[in-house]
Amino acid sequence: MPAAITPFDDALKSCNLYPLRAEGIATLQVNLGKKCNQACHHCHVEAGPNRTEMMGDAVMERCLSLLKEERIPVLDITGGAPEMHPRYRTFVESARGTGAAAMTRCNLTILREPEMHGLPAFWKTHNVIVVASLPYFRREETDAVRGKGVFEKSIEALKHLNETGYGIEGSGLTLNLVYNPAGAFLPAPQEPMERQFRAELKRNHGVAFNHLFAMSNMPIARFKDYLNRKNAHDSYLLRLAGAFNPAAAENVMCRSMVSVGWDGFLFDCDFNQMLGLRVNHGAPFHINDWNQRALAGRQIVTGAHCYGCTAGQGSSCGGEIS
Ligand code: SF4
Ligand code: SF4
Repeated sequence: MPAAITPFDDALKSCNLYPLRAEGIATLQVNLGKKCNQACHHCHVEAGPNRTEMMGDAVMERCLSLLKEERIPVLDITGGAPEMHPRYRTFVESARGTGAAAMTRCNLTILREPEMHGLPAFWKTHNVIVVASLPYFRREETDAVRGKGVFEKSIEALKHLNETGYGIEGSGLTLNLVYNPAGAFLPAPQEPMERQFRAELKRNHGVAFNHLFAMSNMPIARFKDYLNRKNAHDSYLLRLAGAFNPAAAENVMCRSMVSVGWDGFLFDCDFNQMLGLRVNHGAPFHINDWNQRALAGRQIVTGAHCYGCTAGQGSSCGGEIS
């Protein structure tokens, strides 16, 4: 970390948030694995078609029993491309059977794979909330981050979701989008960006959605490599730290969730998961040792990367259920 940057815990102390603690577990985030049909330049999971890590049956069953026994209100399914897990659909069905709401992260292009065409109808049947990533509303920026042809496929997928009712007013089916900048800069404020996305996607493609979440790129994994190649890592971290916002820190997603890795290890969030920073400070760090009380009030494991969640308006996309 560059010497000029205030340690994150000192920033928390400056607004009386140290030690940062969870305040319950409203969401169980489950990472089904690292396999993905894409290999995006900025991926913090370092996912791709050749990754083989996949959640096994025992961990999946434990997740389902926790949803039921601990009455955790929301399941947040992520990956890689979680839809590529062979048990994805039965997992979603069983989770909904526990009474939990289910939210699935989707990269959109996966819906253009032949065996995935039925997914929007499946999600509709089970009233699953879709949180889809779309780096930008224009082809140029999206393809620069995700690869040639991704924008076109993403628009086709969004149209398919709209035809199924997702993102359409009055349907009760939620389609939220996640946008993140194409380079080493902070995202524009969320509300005007949402208005711009809505207007541009409607006008140019006839596409509708419910809400947009603006996320900073986390200075970890592939995006960190990108920053290092551009010799911009320290300046980016300084920019994030300079935009530290106590209100955003108070609402970071780790305070209300636990993130389960494909192998059953527990993390405060997906970012810590990718950094290998397991739950700590006395709370159990594997799903087999789950202790609701200890986890619900645990101290969060923090680091300089946490400035990515607390800069500006904040970037903790817990995929709020609205
Ligand atoms: S950013 Fe998303 S779509 Fe891209 S490789 Fe990573 S998991 Fe896959
Ligand atoms: S990176 Fe994770 S642990 Fe750090 S503030 Fe964000 S959500 Fe919390």
